[in-house]
Amino acid sequence: MTESIRNADVLIIGGGLSGTMLAVQLLRLPGQRRILVIEPRSELGRGEAYSAVELGHTLNGNAARMSVDPDNADDLTQWLTDYIGAGGWPQSNQQHVPISELFPPRGIFGLYAQQRLAEAKALSASTVEHVRAEGVDLQVDADSTLLTLDNGQQLRGTHAVLATGMFPAARTPQTESSGLNAAAVDPWDVQAMTQLDPQSTVLIIGSGLTMVDAVVSLEQAGHRGPIEVFSRHGLLPHVRRQPPSWADFLAADHSLRSPRQLLCEVRRQCRLALAQGIDWQAPLDTVRAHIGRLWSQASEREKRQFVRHVRPWWESHHHRSPPLSAQLVARLYEEGRLRIRAASFKGLERSLSGVSIRLRHRGEHAISEVSGAALINSSGIEYDWRRVARPLPQQLLKRGLIQPGPLALGIAADVSGAVLDAHGQVSQRLFAMGPPLRGMWWESTAVTDVAIQAKALAAKLTHI
Ligand SMILES: Cc1cc2nc3c(=O)[nH]c(=O)nc-3n(C[C@H](O)[C@H](O)[C@H](O)COP(=O)(O)OP(=O)(O)OC[C@H]3O[C@@H](n4cnc5c(N)ncnc54)[C@H](O)[C@@H]3O)c2cc1C
Repeated sequence: MTESIRNADVLIIGGGLSGTMLAVQLLRLPGQRRILVIEPRSELGRGEAYSAVELGHTLNGNAARMSVDPDNADDLTQWLTDYIGAGGWPQSNQQHVPISELFPPRGIFGLYAQQRLAEAKALSASTVEHVRAEGVDLQVDADSTLLTLDNGQQLRGTHAVLATGMFPAARTPQTESSGLNAAAVDPWDVQAMTQLDPQSTVLIIGSGLTMVDAVVSLEQAGHRGPIEVFSRHGLLPHVRRQPPSWADFLAADHSLRSPRQLLCEVRRQCRLALAQGIDWQAPLDTVRAHIGRLWSQASEREKRQFVRHVRPWWESHHHRSPPLSAQLVARLYEEGRLRIRAASFKGLERSLSGVSIRLRHRGEHAISEVSGAALINSSGIEYDWRRVARPLPQQLLKRGLIQPGPLALGIAADVSGAVLDAHGQVSQRLFAMGPPLRGMWWESTAVTDVAIQAKALAAKLTHI
């Protein structure tokens, strides 16, 4: 017997932070809508990032920077004040800083997102329901969208939104051919790390924020042996500080466009700041608000130049480490327990005693080999949907409902998030938000990006 098709006004595919914030914003708007959030995880609002159970896996920005309410920058600080006041997160007392300067554990941030959803639900005439399943196929016609779930059920929505988030390289074993993930320990799995010999050598590929999380996990798991980190440029994320404000120099000069011009000007501003005894993070932080505009105006050649020459620098200077995690990495580095080298991963062999990896060190031709008891893949995110071996991205591509975004980063869409099909037609029914729009905006993953997009998309969906 075929089950009847359930109907909704909006199908939100993915119930991480993006999907949940979109639901919150839709609930806050006048009217009566039926919203279904399709998410295989047991809870909404968490996704990959905020399912963290380890208290040391914190946000990479302090509370004052991480509000999910675009109209109230203090929203997280206010929630956290109540939460701590009610006895939550007792360890926060050890940091002796104002609540707005705390870096909350990501698991606690997930509770905040969930509470904002519960409050919006309680006050709204619209409804939100969590459908616990994975969307595996989507059909779109002139009037509606039809989503097929992995349990065979079908849902029809007037609109559908792809809020499917990031596909971390460490979590996509099906897509990688190097065997890296099959041989690797999950960077966030403290439990798995307790199984390692505490004195053994651990190898980590990638030196960004996932590596920082992995080092925190290792420390929590009681690992005290050497940690060898390899990444193409050998750059560590800088630590996030609280710089003073700085004049928004890009707002004053829209003629600055090419990656080279921008980099020169940003460096000049940083030098000016340093000469005045001001943290270089102050001028750099003003750039963030302009990234979407600069990226979307750039030619394909300029985008490529940025990715090739500026990206490693941008990643390590902009995507900064929370202070406590950075202190741990710095301590292990000073003790000589953690080493970081610029080298490209070329392959691996598993052995009875662990794993051996092949590397080409920067500036060298020869391939060298390094062995360790365990390997962690912290090489970042797979943004190219053609390489994501999940059914929905594959089906959407096969049906021609989406096309890769610029530089194959995520998928193509217009400024409102309406996706472009294989022929470049803007969909009236299918939208995307958050990490899938990486290629459209460059920065489209952080809490604030997602919060702003959710508000704008909710308004759009209720006016078409
Ligand atoms: C480990 C980690 C730490 C981070 N830390 C920070 C931070 O400190 N500060 C910051 O600003 N940003 C951080 N980020 C960026 C983070 O991605 C965003 O803040 C935000 O979580 C993105 O939310 P999302 O819902 O778009 O993606 P995700 O969190 O990836 O959630 C997407 C959800 O979609 C679901 N899904 C996927 N495909 C389907 C399908 N076919 N059907 C149904 N459901 C599906 C998944 O199960 C998942 O739950 C971090 C990211 C990661 C991975």
